[in-house]
Amino acid sequence: SSAEKLDFMREIVAADIASGKHGGRVQTRFPPEPNGYLHIGHAKSICLNFGIAKEFGGKCNLRFDDTNPTKEDVEYVDSIQNDVRWLGFEWDGLYYASDYFEKLYNWACDLIRANLAYVDSQTLEEIRQQRGTAGAPGTNSPFRDRSVEENLDLFARMRSGEFPDGAHVLRAKIDMASPHLIYRDPLLYRIRHAHHHRTGDAWCIYPMYDYAHGQCDSIEEITHSICTLEFETHRPLYNWFIEKLNIYPSHQYEFARLNLTYTVMSKRKLLELVQDGLVSGWDDPRMPTLSGLRRRGYTPEAIRAFCKTIGITRYSGLTDMVVLENALRDRLNAVAERRMAVLEPLKVVITNYPEGQVEYLDAVNNPEDESAGTRSIPFSRELYIEREDFMEVAAKKYFRLAPGQEVRLRWAYFLKCDDFVKDAEGNIVELRCTYDPTTKGGNAPDGRKVKGTIHWVSAPHALNAEVRLYDHLLKIADPSEMPEDADWKSALNEASLQVLKGCKLEPSLADCKPELPVQFERKGYFVVDSADSTSQSLVFNRSVTLKDAWQK
Ligand code: ATP
Ligand code: MG
Ligand code: MG
Repeated sequence: SSAEKLDFMREIVAADIASGKHGGRVQTRFPPEPNGYLHIGHAKSICLNFGIAKEFGGKCNLRFDDTNPTKEDVEYVDSIQNDVRWLGFEWDGLYYASDYFEKLYNWACDLIRANLAYVDSQTLEEIRQQRGTAGAPGTNSPFRDRSVEENLDLFARMRSGEFPDGAHVLRAKIDMASPHLIYRDPLLYRIRHAHHHRTGDAWCIYPMYDYAHGQCDSIEEITHSICTLEFETHRPLYNWFIEKLNIYPSHQYEFARLNLTYTVMSKRKLLELVQDGLVSGWDDPRMPTLSGLRRRGYTPEAIRAFCKTIGITRYSGLTDMVVLENALRDRLNAVAERRMAVLEPLKVVITNYPEGQVEYLDAVNNPEDESAGTRSIPFSRELYIEREDFMEVAAKKYFRLAPGQEVRLRWAYFLKCDDFVKDAEGNIVELRCTYDPTTKGGNAPDGRKVKGTIHWVSAPHALNAEVRLYDHLLKIADPSEMPEDADWKSALNEASLQVLKGCKLEPSLADCKPELPVQFERKGYFVVDSADSTSQSLVFNRSVTLKDAWQK
């Protein structure tokens, strides 16, 4: 009954439905350019566009904004569809801006006929120099007054391939003195003899974003065309085309893009990391891409919950990575089964436990979810514990193992350290301990207490695994604070990947499936690496630690 407060965008949609604008229809679209993989910023836009359609009984299209042939590829088209579906959304229509090239061309001819567009034969540099500034008007191109006939002829010859790249462009004829810089005769088409991943060599002129985007919206009768704030200054032009071409009146609305600390989100930079081999690929678990987050162990529910938490506003800002991590923790705390895994093993021999004996102990799978049940874990004379759970000389308030100190072994017995063994170099290689058989289940009949509980695995039953621990991609929280002339890659964190080999896992982890997250007790949430793990050679990724660094 408690109605959630709507964000500004949903308020607009609700008001438009109430007033009968667009006949009460809601049609949105998510318009990625297929020039890279989707990232967490795109997830914000997907949740907004598909979310609004779902919540208001509307429709949402997936439209590939494929007007830039040299940077686009079918690999990206496929990955984008896969990632949208993985996030939990299904599009109503699937479209490509390139499907509309003929229509866009004809509309450009209409603008020429209406004396609202002309072919300019200057270089891009000359055009840029004539643009003027916010305070000073621009200069008219010497080609601005070409006749309609000449413009139509030149534009047709541009299309037919008669001219090399850069020889001419098509521009709108608006106002070189307009206070809206976007109105100063913006470019509509440029010549590009480039192969397109869908239209092949059918075209050698390609429309500019501003000319294509709004008209594509209009063709699809988009009611609410939602984009990020950088496009606010483009809105007058968006409306100008609709008015002059007299086509379906889509409306553009802007919201603040997502920026996250300690990472980069521009596809150009992400591509650079991939191409330079600084990460293993678009799905490297350190990448903020949806495929990277998935491989890292993020679930669609966690990402949707994150997008809901951050909300939609018109104020740009920087969201702390901890907010994303907490969304994952919340989700995994509820659903991930607990397991025991020793990442940096130290051998323990229980001298009073019979040689060759094995017993099976019950362990609770998820204290947050009774229906997850229990499992049996083997216990024997030889175990592994974490190296950091032993100190030769116990520090103050160190309640784990040390000579003479007693701890509780999770789901098992009390264990006391009697002695340790060192190798020739002085490294501790083994602990000699005794257990108390009366403490099975973790409590002593005599009421004595231990302060520390540690995890362990039975040595003869343990699985070997490689475990990969991750830290932030960048060393600095806000890369926008870097000096202008600095190489952004100097901010890369060299310690973002730590590989641990010879980790020891409890045997039930043998049939763990990728995308099924587990909690390694005391160590964080982990998932099988979907690319590199095999049944012969297990690889786990840490998705997130149990607590963020501030709480540790
Ligand atoms: P990039 O800067 O990473 O290349 P882009 O905006 O050029 O991003 P597109 O493929 O055009 O990438 O984006 C598709 C949609 O996703 C657009 O509507 C865009 O506004 C939105 N989007 C992209 N990045 C973000 C972000 N960081 N936060 C919110 N929405 C985003
Ligand atoms: Mg874009
Ligand atoms: Mg881009």
